[in-house]
Amino acid sequence: RQPDLECALLVLGSGPGGYSAAFRAADLGLDTILVERYDSLGGVCLNVGCIPSKALLHAAEVIDEAAAMAAHGVSFGAPQIDLDKLRGFKSAVVKKLTGGLAGMAKARKVRTVTGVGQFVSPHELEVEGKDGRKLIRFEQAIIAAGSQSVKLPAFPWDDPRIIDSTGALELKDVPGKLLVVGGGIIGLEMATVYSALGSEVTVVEFAPQLIPAADADLIKPLQQRLKKQLKGIHLKTRVVEAKAGKDGIEVVFEGDSLPAETVYDRVLVAVGRSPNGKLIGAEQAGVAVSDRGFIEVDTQQRTNVPHIFAIGDIVGQPMLAHKATHEAHVAAQVAAGQKSHFDARVIPSVAFTNPEIAWVGVTEREAAEKGLKIGVGKFPWAASGRAIGIDRTEGFTKLLFDETTHRVVGAGIVGPHAGDLISELALAIEMGAEAADIALTVHPHPTLGESVGMAAEVYEGTITDLY
Ligand code: FAD
Repeated sequence: RQPDLECALLVLGSGPGGYSAAFRAADLGLDTILVERYDSLGGVCLNVGCIPSKALLHAAEVIDEAAAMAAHGVSFGAPQIDLDKLRGFKSAVVKKLTGGLAGMAKARKVRTVTGVGQFVSPHELEVEGKDGRKLIRFEQAIIAAGSQSVKLPAFPWDDPRIIDSTGALELKDVPGKLLVVGGGIIGLEMATVYSALGSEVTVVEFAPQLIPAADADLIKPLQQRLKKQLKGIHLKTRVVEAKAGKDGIEVVFEGDSLPAETVYDRVLVAVGRSPNGKLIGAEQAGVAVSDRGFIEVDTQQRTNVPHIFAIGDIVGQPMLAHKATHEAHVAAQVAAGQKSHFDARVIPSVAFTNPEIAWVGVTEREAAEKGLKIGVGKFPWAASGRAIGIDRTEGFTKLLFDETTHRVVGAGIVGPHAGDLISELALAIEMGAEAADIALTVHPHPTLGESVGMAAEVYEGTITDLY
């Protein structure tokens, strides 16, 4: 069969991985086609992930801040929420970014093809779109087909009262009683939004800790604040059954801390994401996919089929947009003949909760498990002029140093803007900075960023009177 389209490089999926790869490849001179099943480019991150969630979290933060100022003599009264307008704000943010991508694709002459793509051979992809099937022949391909929410089997998913993060971000209404199943980053971000908008939110988490990947001390200030805002946080507890009832979703819990409430207006399931590796006909191209749906790659992002690369959520943890983007650039550069490879020492993680939690590199738990000899420099924000000035002294900045080399190997920050502050430490780790490099760097005063320099000073022993 003759192909309908031909290209040097085909990119499957238009999330942060896919669009970054397509744009870089086109910039390097490759004739590129970008295939996406939805009309809007941008993937999960721009359409139903990072971006809309942060727009709504901004609203939640403003509501929270305004309420907190009442104690300091500035009162705004109860928030008046116009849900249509708020939804409109969120959609406009998404549209601005996804529309921008369409423009950037056009400017680079990246051809976009809309429809569901399936490999039919090592050099061909068939796309089923609204206007029929198209066969695309490619010299090389980059798979960037991403991931989707895990759908727990014990739930009646055909009931609209059971939602995943995509449903939660639609913001159809503000449920009276919301159960969030999963106390990871996505679950807690959504719990923060809905609680600020007025829902009574209960969170259940199977692990003994919220956001299990982060160090326990980072979670404590968040948990203390959430305890005041949410109806309940139930650790070491899981949902064993959820049934569609007349007055709500009836839930059966099992575990150490059972919520008193068993009927909810809405149940948000946020228990993780699974890769889309099994949904793209990878076997027809000879690309190996693991039982769980991941595609294994080397440091050049090549799969077992040398002319087919894979990037982003589909190649493994951490499933984060900034990891996808960097892998995308490597894959595109290698496809264009450059000697590139992915060698990031660390990839930062951020929970955009209130307070934010951010960490990078080795955690204290990992260090203990691996028997690494590390020293800790911890600066409590209770000693930061800026944190006191914004009445957010619960935060802290913690740096972990290799005890032999004094190089920074990890960091954790909890407090407002932790996500912005962590970048300095990702750079410090990448550059092999020692404690003295960080301590002697002049940080502007009064900023929360000063806490990074101060934490290094605590480790160095030049700040001694904190505790
Ligand atoms: P995706 O963004 O998943 O894109 C894959 C694309 O491929 C999709 O558009 C899909 O439609 C398309 N596709 C799949 N199969 C086919 C096919 N067969 N044919 C055609 N098209 C196909 N990450 C962060 O770093 N920061 C955050 O703040 C953050 N917040 C998040 C909040 C939520 C609620 C969620 C769900 C995720 C969040 N993430 C965040 C994770 C982030 O969205 C992902 O890591 C990122 O989108 C992965 O990019 P990707 O390019 O690998 O895949």
